[in-house]
Amino acid sequence: MPKKISILGSTGSIGTQSLDVARKHGYFVEALTASSNVELLEKQIREFHPKKAALLDPERAAELKIRTADLDVSVLSGTEGICECAGNTDAETVINSIVGLAGLMPTLAVLNAGKDLALANKESLVAGGPLVKNAAKRTGARILPVDSEHSAIFQCLQGQPPNRALKKIILTASGGPFFGKKRAELEKVTLAQALAHPNWSMGAKITVDSATMFNKGLELIEAVRLFDVSPEQVDIVVHRESIVHSLIEYDDNSVIAQLGVPDMRVPIQYALTYPDRYESPVKELDLASAARLTFFEPDYETFECIGICRRAVACGGLMPAAVNSANEQANLLFRQGKIRFLQIPELINAAAACAENKTDFTPEDILALDALMREEVNRRA
Ligand code: NDP
Ligand code: MG
Repeated sequence: MPKKISILGSTGSIGTQSLDVARKHGYFVEALTASSNVELLEKQIREFHPKKAALLDPERAAELKIRTADLDVSVLSGTEGICECAGNTDAETVINSIVGLAGLMPTLAVLNAGKDLALANKESLVAGGPLVKNAAKRTGARILPVDSEHSAIFQCLQGQPPNRALKKIILTASGGPFFGKKRAELEKVTLAQALAHPNWSMGAKITVDSATMFNKGLELIEAVRLFDVSPEQVDIVVHRESIVHSLIEYDDNSVIAQLGVPDMRVPIQYALTYPDRYESPVKELDLASAARLTFFEPDYETFECIGICRRAVACGGLMPAAVNSANEQANLLFRQGKIRFLQIPELINAAAACAENKTDFTPEDILALDALMREEVNRRA
C-alpha cells in the first residue's frame, strides 16, 4: 500500500522534488506547509489533496482558505499551524524541508508524535542537537537523512552493526562557486556570483552557505549528531564533480563510497523507501562519460566557516545553535546586499562571542539565543 507522508516546506527546492517522488510512487500526502507562497501551495493542494495545510503568514493563510473553500482541506497558520501539520495527521513519515532554524519546532513536533522524520532541515538538528535526538529516542521515531552526504553515509553503513569498526566519515564538498579563490579575490564577490553553484540548484540560503562553505560546517555537525561520531572522526574532502556523495572508512582502512548523478530525488526517495529501494526518477550514472573524479584538501584558511563550525561542535551545548543563528542572519544580510561576502564569517565570530553557553537547554533557550545572535549580527553589520 502506498505510504502516507507530509511535507513541510513543500514549495521549496527540496519540497517540490519530494512531491515529484510522491507523484512517481503514488504516496498519499496528508499535509503540506509553506511560508507565504500561496499560489504554489494552492496548486499543490489541488493536485495532492492533503487533509491539512499551513502557511506561516496568517494573511496569506486567510487568502488560501478562501481560494481552497471548495476543497476538503483544513487551512492553518503560524508556527502552531505548521506544527499541527507536522505532528497531528496520519502520516507515517514527515519530510522537513523548511529552511533555517524555523524548522526546529516542526522537527520536534514530528518526533514527539513518534513519526519518522525525513530530515533535510539540517539547521534544526545542528541547533537542537540533544533535544532532537532525545525526542527521537523517547518515542522510537527514526531520523532518516535527506542531505545527500548523510544519505550516502547512511547507505554505506547498511549491514554494518551500529558503529562497529567505523573509523571515520569523509564528507565530500563541491567547493562551491569560489573554489580555488583566495581571500583577496573574495573581497568583492557579488550575490549573483555566490548564487552560481556549479552542480546543484537549491534555495538561496543554502546556496550562499555553499559559497562560504558554512554548509559543510553544518554538515560536519549534522554527521556528528546523526552517526554518533566525534568531530575528529569527520574529514572533509573537496570533490568538484559531486558524484561521490560521501564515504566512510573502517578500521581496516577499507573505504566505502556512495556514488550517483547529483539529484536530490535519490536521497529523498531513499529516506521514504528505506530499507527498500524503488525505481528511480533519476538517470543512471555513466562513469565513463564522467571520465574523471578529482579530490582536494579544503582551503580552511580562506573558507573559515568550516573551522567555526568545528570549534562550535567541540564546545558543545548551545554553541552550534549560536553559530547557526549568527550565520542565518549574516547570510540574509548578504543576500539583501547589506554586507560583503567576507563579513559573513567575521560577523558570525563576533556574535557567537556574545553567546552564553549552557549544556542543559530547552527549545525556548535556542529561540532566545537566536534573537540575540540576530541582534548582535545586525548591530555590527
Ligand atoms: P527553499 O528556500 O527552496 O525552500 C524553503 C521552504 O521552507 C519553502 O517551502 C518555504 O516557503 C518554507 N519556509 C521558508 N521560511 C520558512 C519559515 N520561517 N517557516 C516555515 N516555512 C518556511 O530551501 P531548500 O529547499 O533549498 O532547503 C530546505 C532545507 O533543506 C534547508 O535546511 C537546506 O539546508 C536543506 N537542504 C537543501 C538541499 C537542496 O538541494 N535544496 C540539499 C540538502 C539540504 P515559501 O516558498 O512560502 O517561502
Ligand atoms: Mg549536502
